[in-house]
Amino acid sequence: MSQSPLPVVRPVAELRGKVRAWRAAGERIGFVPTMGALHEGHLSLVQLARQHAQRVVVSIFVNPTQFAPHEDFDAYPRGEARDAELLAAAGCDLLFAPTVAEMYPSGFATTVTVGGVTEPLDGAARPGHFAGVATVVSKLLNQCGPDVAVFGEKDYQQLQVIRRLVRDLDLPVEIVGAPTARAPDGLALSSRNAYLTPAERKIAPSLARTLGAACAGLRAGARVSDVEAEAVAALTAAGFRRVDYVEVRTAEDLSRLGPGPITSPARILAAAFLGKTRLIDNFAV
Ligand code: AMP
Repeated sequence: MSQSPLPVVRPVAELRGKVRAWRAAGERIGFVPTMGALHEGHLSLVQLARQHAQRVVVSIFVNPTQFAPHEDFDAYPRGEARDAELLAAAGCDLLFAPTVAEMYPSGFATTVTVGGVTEPLDGAARPGHFAGVATVVSKLLNQCGPDVAVFGEKDYQQLQVIRRLVRDLDLPVEIVGAPTARAPDGLALSSRNAYLTPAERKIAPSLARTLGAACAGLRAGARVSDVEAEAVAALTAAGFRRVDYVEVRTAEDLSRLGPGPITSPARILAAAFLGKTRLIDNFAV
């Protein structure tokens, strides 16, 4: 069945005009920011946004400021026409796909930095990444002005950074976290999975399996320090080239736990390289 084409706007002023008209008609606005190369995980966010709002706006913007110079900004998969078809079928009303010049006009000089929760894990492994994320998400939320915005637990630290940002800056938006969509073998869906060779794709589910086993150990009373060390060893044995981290942290602000058994809500988070591809995953404990 062919879908009617999805409206696409690029200038911020046009986005604001559409949202203003919907709001004047009494409709709630949901928003899902993405970098495109969409998969079922992104579409589940759109469906969740629909449950909270009458209108859903999705943005596609591969944000240069959240990539370090050696990272995959140029190679990041892009395919707006296919993405637009998937979004129309998933119930999105409007695609906001700004240009880099629209988002970062000449003279742009402002950075939003969030403290605390940005410091460990991906913040330590990818310096500057969360400043890029916080800056672009601040802009996107101001540009769209949604009632509710949906972010995936797949990027759990990012979700907590955005919750902190929204609280600290009194941004008038409700943040909803969406569960991680996975392939049948457990691999968390990710646009970067497209980089995996067939051999790497076979190894990739061991990331989720290893974290699942670690969760079971923690629930049975194992020590945090033992679980972390065993998970790093298991990933290395499975064929991961470099493990950036496997850490058990507090669920809310990702602060450190003691080395012994856990006694409060926690999250286990990992990042590891399979060949050239950096995969991340996390689970609630
Ligand atoms: P990205 O396009 O990778 O920047 O992701 C856009 C949004 O989709 C973010 O809120 C991600 O956390 C979310 N997301 C990405 N992959 C998944 C997944 N497998 N399940 C749920 N949400 C996801």
